Amino acid sequence: MDGAVVTVAAPVFILLGPPGAGKGTQARMLQEAQGFVQLSTGDLLRAAVAAGTDAGKAAKAVMEAGGLVSDDIVIAILKDRLADDDCARGVILDGFPRTTGQAEALDDLLADSGQRINAAISLEVDDSAMVARISGRFTCGNCGEGYHDVNKPTRALGICDKCGSSHMKRRADDNAETVSQRLTEYHNQTAPLIAYYEGKGVLQSLDAMGEIDAIAATLSGMVKDAAT
Ligand code: AMP
Repeated sequence: MDGAVVTVAAPVFILLGPPGAGKGTQARMLQEAQGFVQLSTGDLLRAAVAAGTDAGKAAKAVMEAGGLVSDDIVIAILKDRLADDDCARGVILDGFPRTTGQAEALDDLLADSGQRINAAISLEVDDSAMVARISGRFTCGNCGEGYHDVNKPTRALGICDKCGSSHMKRRADDNAETVSQRLTEYHNQTAPLIAYYEGKGVLQSLDAMGEIDAIAATLSGMVKDAAT
């Protein structure tokens, strides 16, 4: 060894897929199992709305209608969060990018910091199952654990399995009309990113219609293989 310091760039993973595909659930499981940071632009935007920031005020009505918040706002929010120290562990991007403009901005951001996309993993699901999946979901308002009325109910009614809180939340945009608009936005604006990442040689696909734990096990293997 010549004593040179070798900096290993933090891995970057993207989870692609329509609303309800399980991106948030899987990103959260990966965060717990492998220590990467789940970076959800939806969560960041909801926090901005709750805090009443300028970005939050601009995003609120668009989110309630199931539209996409402007690239400028989302990219600025993501850039800020990526600069936090914990992101040096590696990140799982959940819900970003959603447009070609965002994907190009991400490429530029990563190039500036000497990073690359390790894998963009497309969660493949049937559109017809998405409305039922989304309209049944809820989360613990205390620890953020995700549940579903049918697919993943709490063990004791209304009590979080993980932290014991009874404060459960449902998202305002998880209703049938908004979901159908969100699916339309996905097909028009986000689905083209599958070809974008295929062209870059980083696309991987995963059948995400099965059991949450089985999907998590497959995804975990894909992420481990692509992390180095
Ligand atoms: P999600 O939590 O990922 O389902 O996002 C909820 C809502 O936040 C979306 O329906 C959009 O209105 C907005 N949003 C989240 N991420 C993005 C993004 N990358 N680009 C534009 N809008 C976004």
